[in-house]
Amino acid sequence: MSATDKINDIVIVGGGSAGWMTAAMLAKQLEANVNITLVESDDIGTIGVGEATIPPIKAFNRLLGIDENDFLKKCNGSIKLGISFENWSQKNHSYFHPFGRFAVDFDYMPFGYFWNKQRESGNAKPLQEYASAWHLAKHDKFSLPTNDPKSLFSGFDYAYHFDSSLYANYLKEYATKRGVIRQEGKINHVSTHANNGFIRSVTLASGQVINGDFFIDCSGGSALLINKTLGVKFIDWSEHLLCNRAIAVQTKHVKPISPYTRSIAGEAGWQWRIPLQTRMGNGFVHSSHFIEEQQAIDKLVDSVDGELLTDPRVINFKVGRREKFWYKNCVAIGLSSGFLEPLESTSLHLIQRAIMRLIYLFPNKHCDEINTRFYNKQSIEEYEHIRNFIILHYKATQRDDSEFWRYCQHMQVPDSLQQQIELFATHGHLDLNGKDLFKQDNWLAVLTGQGIHPKSVAPIMAYKQKIDLPRTLNSFYDMMTKTVQQMPNHEDYLRKKCNFSLK
Ligand SMILES: Cc1cc2nc3c(=O)[nH]c(=O)nc-3n(C[C@H](O)[C@H](O)[C@H](O)COP(=O)(O)OP(=O)(O)OC[C@H]3O[C@@H](n4cnc5c(N)ncnc54)[C@H](O)[C@@H]3O)c2cc1C
Repeated sequence: MSATDKINDIVIVGGGSAGWMTAAMLAKQLEANVNITLVESDDIGTIGVGEATIPPIKAFNRLLGIDENDFLKKCNGSIKLGISFENWSQKNHSYFHPFGRFAVDFDYMPFGYFWNKQRESGNAKPLQEYASAWHLAKHDKFSLPTNDPKSLFSGFDYAYHFDSSLYANYLKEYATKRGVIRQEGKINHVSTHANNGFIRSVTLASGQVINGDFFIDCSGGSALLINKTLGVKFIDWSEHLLCNRAIAVQTKHVKPISPYTRSIAGEAGWQWRIPLQTRMGNGFVHSSHFIEEQQAIDKLVDSVDGELLTDPRVINFKVGRREKFWYKNCVAIGLSSGFLEPLESTSLHLIQRAIMRLIYLFPNKHCDEINTRFYNKQSIEEYEHIRNFIILHYKATQRDDSEFWRYCQHMQVPDSLQQQIELFATHGHLDLNGKDLFKQDNWLAVLTGQGIHPKSVAPIMAYKQKIDLPRTLNSFYDMMTKTVQQMPNHEDYLRKKCNFSLK
């Protein structure tokens, strides 16, 4: 590559989680060999929600060299071991989607095959009770996974709950220390090159012009570059994912700080409970076609525990994705690129994946179309995989107590999801690709939690006669129950690791 082809000036538009995660990682990965300017507008602000994450965020922070305890302390963080889904398959029924694996895969077979066999004989405990993350969560305990591969506590995983605005600030400090220039101001004009339509510069309301070779659109829902400038359309998925509005409110803690998120289904959507160190995040994600805004606010306010710390905030959103994530010399990251509702806390993860993919496929000034097409292909596959997993929670319900759930139960789902459900419902097999975010045990947790079970166990199990299954499964359960008693509770863990003092 000639020196004239090399990208020298990168402009990131937007300073929400997407903007600052991108700025921090580019500053680290491109070292000091490029100029990075991030433009954000104090008047417009950020969406300011996004408090629950999934385990790969740890790798992102580690790559930045962030100290976990310092991060937890400064971002009001707590530990997340999974999600408790309540009233989803039926009212008064709950299941846990744990991070990490169930017990262990043995005899070269997934654990689910054995559990299904035991379940068919009528002697299995609920699936979650074979997950060490569930045992910890049930008792509000936490300790890091052990490095001993023989231990059942080596296979669980964890993520964080945190204040996303504090996380953005944390990364802002990180990025600006490494040379990223922060420019405050509202962009009111974007110019493009006449010959190829590539973006040339953005102009702030003050008249200041910022030129760039490469632009990253982190402007949130306004999609200032990718849509308003380059005209890339949005593909709407609201046919399968009905929710389009959320109410968010913060409350004081009244109970111990649990190391998991709660997702509680209601008549027209679901509520989240996300415990941070100093407060609880609460929200109600719902469909405006099935409940009025004021009624939704009242429902949330009436059902939260603890004193309100903020007024309820209404957030409208659209689910779907951009037709292209990278077009010409612009990549959209974060809400400008698409949105999937926060049921499985995947948005920050999609940001993280987009950043790492961009670094891997980092272009020269010409932004070769073959490279760009590959980026888009991978991004689309990833979005669709996560979309299917989220739709599954709605489709596989037995609830018929409201118009919302009746619609969900009977709606058409994408063929790829329908085939997955049918495959599992036959013998418990799953069609997964090594790159997929949600693995065998994630699908197993949600499919069975939502009430879908194989009609008969995997036929291979008829040949597996040597294993004393009841004894083996009971020994897993007993070992987990015993070990968890010796673990510290979650609040003590936070107190010790990040000087957190509970009020
Ligand atoms: C209800 C809800 C709950 C969510 N919960 C979770 C969760 O639990 N976990 C999770 O991972 N994700 C969650 N998300 C998603 C998460 O909030 C977003 O993915 C994340 O915050 C990224 O937002 P962003 O940076 O793309 O956009 P924003 O935060 O909206 O930032 C946009 C930036 O662009 C700037 N900007 C826009 N226009 C201009 C302009 N003209 N000039 C200059 N600057 C401009 C703004 O000032 C701002 O800095 C949730 C989302 C919603 C709606």
